[in-house]
Amino acid sequence: MNDCLFCKMVRGEIQPRMVMETDELIAFHDINPQAPTHILVVPRRHIATLNEVGDADGPLLGKLMLAARHIAQDRKLAESGYRLVMNCNRGAGQTVFHIHLHLLGGRLMTWPPG
Ligand code: AMP
Ligand code: ZN
Repeated sequence: MNDCLFCKMVRGEIQPRMVMETDELIAFHDINPQAPTHILVVPRRHIATLNEVGDADGPLLGKLMLAARHIAQDRKLAESGYRLVMNCNRGAGQTVFHIHLHLLGGRLMTWPPG
């Protein structure tokens, strides 16, 4: 047992506002949304950062992105646009060390990101 926040969600010990569950990933609403839609897509398997992802995990990363795309389409964000973000390590703003893809949409995004 580890005390990783997202592992606790995977195990059902903490219940986020769930959006999608498959055998390999879960997706739920971010508790501190940075856009009208802010959903996190999280693999069930604990991987601390993108640096720890192995070459064999390519399909898993693809599934995270495809899940985000499906959710964006369901929520009618495909036309207006949406942003997918994965922060890697503290310098990039990562605060939960279990990889996750942010799906942000519903407002105009600016570039460069902060
Ligand atoms: P990051 O900074 O990229 O590691 O993203 C972590 C995200 O997890 C942040 O956007 C937080 O708002 C979000 N978060 C932290 N705790 C919770 C929680 N209990 N439920 C949902 N989202 C959370
Ligand atoms: Zn974890």
